Amino acid sequence: MSIKIDRISKRFGNFVAVDDISLALNEGELTALLGPSGSGKTTLLRIIAGLERPDQGRIFFHGQDTTDLPVSQRGVGFVFQHYALFKHMSVFENVAYGLTVRPRRLRPHKTQIHQHVMRLLEMVQLDWAAQRYPSQLSGGQRQRIALARALAVEPKVLLLDEPFGALDAKVRTELRHWLRRLHDELHITSVFVTHDQEEALEVSDRVIVINQGRVEQDGSPEQVYDHPASPFVYEFLGQVNRFTARIQAGHAHIGDLRLPLTTDVPPQTQQAYAYVRPHDLEILNEKQSQALAARIEMISVVGPTARLVLRTPYSNEAVHAELSKHHFHTLGLHVGSQAWLKPISSRLFFDQGEPINA
Ligand code: ATP
Repeated sequence: MSIKIDRISKRFGNFVAVDDISLALNEGELTALLGPSGSGKTTLLRIIAGLERPDQGRIFFHGQDTTDLPVSQRGVGFVFQHYALFKHMSVFENVAYGLTVRPRRLRPHKTQIHQHVMRLLEMVQLDWAAQRYPSQLSGGQRQRIALARALAVEPKVLLLDEPFGALDAKVRTELRHWLRRLHDELHITSVFVTHDQEEALEVSDRVIVINQGRVEQDGSPEQVYDHPASPFVYEFLGQVNRFTARIQAGHAHIGDLRLPLTTDVPPQTQQAYAYVRPHDLEILNEKQSQALAARIEMISVVGPTARLVLRTPYSNEAVHAELSKHHFHTLGLHVGSQAWLKPISSRLFFDQGEPINA
């Protein structure tokens, strides 16, 4: 089931929660809506579900206008962060619930319900817990039951709102992998909301970065991480260094470093910012052309990685670099040493944040 979101807006009083968003979500894709708290992700998800009405715009499921269709007729399954299971029902009864409350003529036979529920419980690897009650399960197990319950009614679209938000880090990671595997098996068009960039990058086929009710970027996890469309996306998706560049004669200059400009910049442009991820900075122990002098302020070696904090006149903030522990040791550098930084990959943005495609 494909989903088309066509110029959707939603206000709460004077506050614009969703601001003219258009998206086309492909059939069978697992899409993450990623953004900071209050950016409008949940509101957009609720509009897709039919739990919230947009002020403007239309929603189409597989080409059909569903904007005015009630939730119950949209064929969506939900998993929420705190979607409490029914406490007084066993795990089996919880998963079967959506089928047992159907009108008699649409309700499958008891034995069919039994087979279907047990198949789902096997899929989420909790068939052994069918007769338990939710209070006898861990948080991660409960979320797996919530997912089985959402899938029981065979939804055409699965919507997940911070499904692992309340779980501890280790369980979160396990469930992420597990959700990905499940999705690869079932291929249900799924949309999940998260503010955790690692979760979004790891699990989804596509990441939609939302900020202040608008789409900042829409792309594969690799695209959004490696080619952020704006400084916001750079900063939201991991650590990044920002160097101040002078624009002169078709180049951006940072000290001795010269980055060519491949697009024309307006003649009055004098300044830009180069964004570089910590692992895209090569660290050198001697001066080279196209490298920036810096001093090492801090070194921490964690597992296989060495993380350095450096100071350089070309950035207003401390610069972070990351390299393998092995390579770092071959450089023979210490706190206080002079080092040189060579960006392997960088992206330039104007003062106001528009990209310069250098
Ligand atoms: P979070 O990750 O914190 O859940 P979010 O990106 O999902 O954030 P939304 O829940 O969509 O954000 O909320 C967007 C904004 O709209 C927030 O500022 C929120 O306070 C506001 N908002 C959401 N629902 C309502 C409502 N029913 N009435 C008034 N304001 C609301």
